[in-house]
Amino acid sequence: MLETIFFVSGAIFGSFFNVCIYRLPKDISIITPGSFCPVCGHRIRWYDNIPIISWILLFGRCRDCKEIISIRYIIIEILTGLLFLFLLQFCGLNKELFIWLFFFSLLLLISVIDIETFFVLDRVVYPGIVVGLVLAFLIWNPIEHIIGMFLGGGIIFLLVRVSPKLLGKEGMGEGDVEVALLLGVFLGWKLILSTLLVSSILGVVIGGGILLLTRRIGSHIPYVPYLAAGGFISWVFSGKIEAFFTL
Ligand SMILES: [Zn+2]
Repeated sequence: MLETIFFVSGAIFGSFFNVCIYRLPKDISIITPGSFCPVCGHRIRWYDNIPIISWILLFGRCRDCKEIISIRYIIIEILTGLLFLFLLQFCGLNKELFIWLFFFSLLLLISVIDIETFFVLDRVVYPGIVVGLVLAFLIWNPIEHIIGMFLGGGIIFLLVRVSPKLLGKEGMGEGDVEVALLLGVFLGWKLILSTLLVSSILGVVIGGGILLLTRRIGSHIPYVPYLAAGGFISWVFSGKIEAFFTL
């Protein structure tokens, strides 16, 4: 029962994230107006706005103009539902759960915006860093998490500076530095080191795979999704990683 509630809540949040992903980079309010079709501008009726189900019933098309609704909408809704379900199972029902629901939802949002627009939005990342700092002082070991923040941000900052000289083009950007600060303050210095390692492996394997398939190098590499995935994997295996550092 609790599992169902969490999956459905996740899907509803995912639906809200879809609104954020579309509107935040365009500077449109995320509250008003209500959902509308980006093609014909028609308001979306409440019964066409049910997460996951409506997309399937409408065969992924707008009821008014029959234009295709991106498959991204249903993917984000399912993914957020699964994320909520996984975190419930992993953490149990306690206050930690809500911290990680917030953190990983934020990472999902920032990652998808980076993939779609190549932007990392300050007004999404900075409030997240502030929340992380507050938690570091109130609940966690502040030193461990502040070191994590500067270590993560610092390493990516150096890479941003060095990579144009090595590659002859810009690889990563300032946005990646901000996301590394966010990851570092939430995860602490041990997990941020493993995050950077895992994300670089994922970047080489997946990024290289995409490069082989599409045979072209984009001018921008969205690195945030790899950082986010690396952070998630490191967090899931945090017990083993912390044990490695205390040896
Ligand atoms: Zn339409």
